[in-house]
Amino acid sequence: MNTPSEVTPKYPILDDLSVSHTVLEIWQKTTDIIADLVNVPAALIMRVHPDEIEVLVRSDSVGNVYRAGERAPLNTGLYCETVMDTLRELSVPDALKDPQWNHNPDIKLGMISYYGLPLTWPSGEIFGTFCILDIKENYFYPKYRELMFRFRDSIKLSLGTIYENHLNTTEARQAKEQIRTLSQAVEQSPVSVVITDADANIEYVNRTFEWITGYEAKEVLGQNPKMFQSGKTPPSVYKDLWETIISGDLWKGELQNRKKSGELYWEHAHIAPVLDPAGNICHFLAVKEDVTSQKRQAERILHQALYDPLTNLPNRGLVNDRLEQLLIEAQRSNHLVAVLFLDMDDFKKVNDSLGHEEGDKILVQAARRLTGAVRDGDTVGRLGGDEFVVLLGGINSASDAGPVAESLLDRFRRTFQLNGRDLVLTASLGIAVFPGDGENAAELLRNADTAMYHAKEQGRNTYYYFTKSMNREVSRRLMIEEQLFGALARGEFHLCYQPIMAIQNRDFVGAEALLRWSNQAIGEISSDEFIPIAEQTGMIVQIGRYVITEALGRAAQWRRNQEKNFKIAINLSPRQLRDPDLVPFIEDALQQAGVPGECLELEITEGVLMSGHSYIDQSLTAIGNLGIGIVMDDFGTGYSSLNYLRNYPFDVVKIDRSFIHDITLNDADRVLVNAAISMAHGLGLKVVAEGVETEDQFVQLSEQGCDFAQGYLLSKPISADEMIKFLETQKN
Ligand code: C2E
Ligand code: CA
Ligand code: CA
Repeated sequence: MNTPSEVTPKYPILDDLSVSHTVLEIWQKTTDIIADLVNVPAALIMRVHPDEIEVLVRSDSVGNVYRAGERAPLNTGLYCETVMDTLRELSVPDALKDPQWNHNPDIKLGMISYYGLPLTWPSGEIFGTFCILDIKENYFYPKYRELMFRFRDSIKLSLGTIYENHLNTTEARQAKEQIRTLSQAVEQSPVSVVITDADANIEYVNRTFEWITGYEAKEVLGQNPKMFQSGKTPPSVYKDLWETIISGDLWKGELQNRKKSGELYWEHAHIAPVLDPAGNICHFLAVKEDVTSQKRQAERILHQALYDPLTNLPNRGLVNDRLEQLLIEAQRSNHLVAVLFLDMDDFKKVNDSLGHEEGDKILVQAARRLTGAVRDGDTVGRLGGDEFVVLLGGINSASDAGPVAESLLDRFRRTFQLNGRDLVLTASLGIAVFPGDGENAAELLRNADTAMYHAKEQGRNTYYYFTKSMNREVSRRLMIEEQLFGALARGEFHLCYQPIMAIQNRDFVGAEALLRWSNQAIGEISSDEFIPIAEQTGMIVQIGRYVITEALGRAAQWRRNQEKNFKIAINLSPRQLRDPDLVPFIEDALQQAGVPGECLELEITEGVLMSGHSYIDQSLTAIGNLGIGIVMDDFGTGYSSLNYLRNYPFDVVKIDRSFIHDITLNDADRVLVNAAISMAHGLGLKVVAEGVETEDQFVQLSEQGCDFAQGYLLSKPISADEMIKFLETQKN
């Protein structure tokens, strides 16, 4: 079954417009009268529906076969349908004689003649028909037709009234509806709405307002919006607000207000005057959005951009900004600014051994200690890693920074707590002072960093003021690093040899190979200077191979020509021992030179052993197995741990020249050297004294039972050619 709404109406109709009872009563009279006047059994007002036609009004006349409310389907050849199709009058005097009409359903009801007129709404849609029917032939004379037209006009008048009423009520309803929607929208809107009268007394607040502020409408009605002020919005904002709205304009801006609970919140407000028809301000309308969370979000983003997330200290960018600000102020007030650059010592070890998470915990503690050591206005920032910066503004003398540096380092010296353990950590610090040590932030930071670097080199756990010479140090270091690249290929290295004497019989039994570097750009560079750099950059591995090959070649020559048991001592860096190819390389070099392992001694320092890595152990054992002697170099300067001597396959101990230097002057050194010799002998090791410069020293060492001596007294390091001559003269 089709529901009415699904039927497409045959005609344009206004099906939902109802005809009132009063109108129906008038129409009833109309049909009654016309039926009476024309003297027909039926006068009808028909109303069309989407697919049917209905008897809306029927004359209450004798012989009327039509019932009110009766409906007939369309498209069945009804007289009325033709009237509606053509929108013209239709007159059928005798349907029985007319082939066009003799199948018309009304004939079955006995109605063989018909006269009808169309009825339409003022807007043109079809309403239905107004018609009369008869059971006999009827020509519907013009005077009756005229009557029908008149009555039809009165019916149309009613239709016009109905239509107009309908329009009016619709408009009114729509207007009412609009107001309702509008006030609902205001009431339920997600922004708060406040309406005041012209004197700023609150007349209306919506629900969002109540919800945001925590005030109920009844608590604020009649009040002045001043009651929400927090005191945080600058008075100039209110001034601007009032000036704007009183002059009739819309004001937009942000206000920081206070809720009933006392909590502060931010709102973005649009406040506008409302004018009465005469153009006077009668109300103010404020539409306000709570932007507190956006504000907070923006603040958070800003914070993230400026602060280090781990320690919450200003990051590099903010430190830079603050420093630049301090410099401007310092210039104006003729003050100084100190930049303190602090770097934790050996922090990498903490990270490597305890893990980054634990390392982070230490950094957080460190940040707290640093912040606690400075005045409130001073900036402590983190540049990254374990690098911190402290900015001291408004100081009068560079020396004011010293005590601060002391106290910063002091806070580091106290142990750090980590999972119940105590950890001793130190830091190194460099100071650069504006304007002497740099005229801008970048230069000051760089120079403070250089001074810090210097403090590290001077043994850490200390601070240094920047000096111009430090910059020279740094640039020299960079130049050396640069020149070291390719130095081997350019043939800039050569070896010197320093003879070693057996004290007992004064025979020269060997020599230490010492590397020399002469660079075309820098000139002669001492091995104390370039070897640590070659070590740090890893270049020592390649250079060390050159030393081994070169020295073994010479040793082979000297053994052939002069001393057949002559030994060569070569210094090995920690980095070289970490090279997995070291042992095979040495084995190969020995073979190439055609000398046995016993010909070679390798000098290593304690530092190599301290890392405790198992490959050091393996390498030293493999080296020992080749018959190569292992020498502990610089003995006495490090931990001088007996354990190392006991646990590693050492053959020789070389006492550092700093002890030998004072052996004749300083009792303590003499005792120390004596103890070292006895101890080494106790472990079955030979002892070499290096840096022997005087006869007295030599005698002293001889008396103490030292096995070998090396030093300027006997010979400075000499070239390979000189060495040949040297050995020859010794023979004679
Ligand atoms: P070292 O192993 O302690 O070498 C001995 C240093 O003492 C040499 O300095 C030598 O010239 C110096 N010396 C010798 N006799 C005396 C003396 O009577 N008095 C004084 N005051 N000094 C004396 P050099 O040649 O400058 O070497 C410095 C350091 O460089 C060496 O210290 C060694 O650690 C390292 N080195 C030298 N050549 C090599 C090398 O081929 N490889 C490695 N890895 N390191 C090397
Ligand atoms: Ca040495
Ligand atoms: Ca030495």
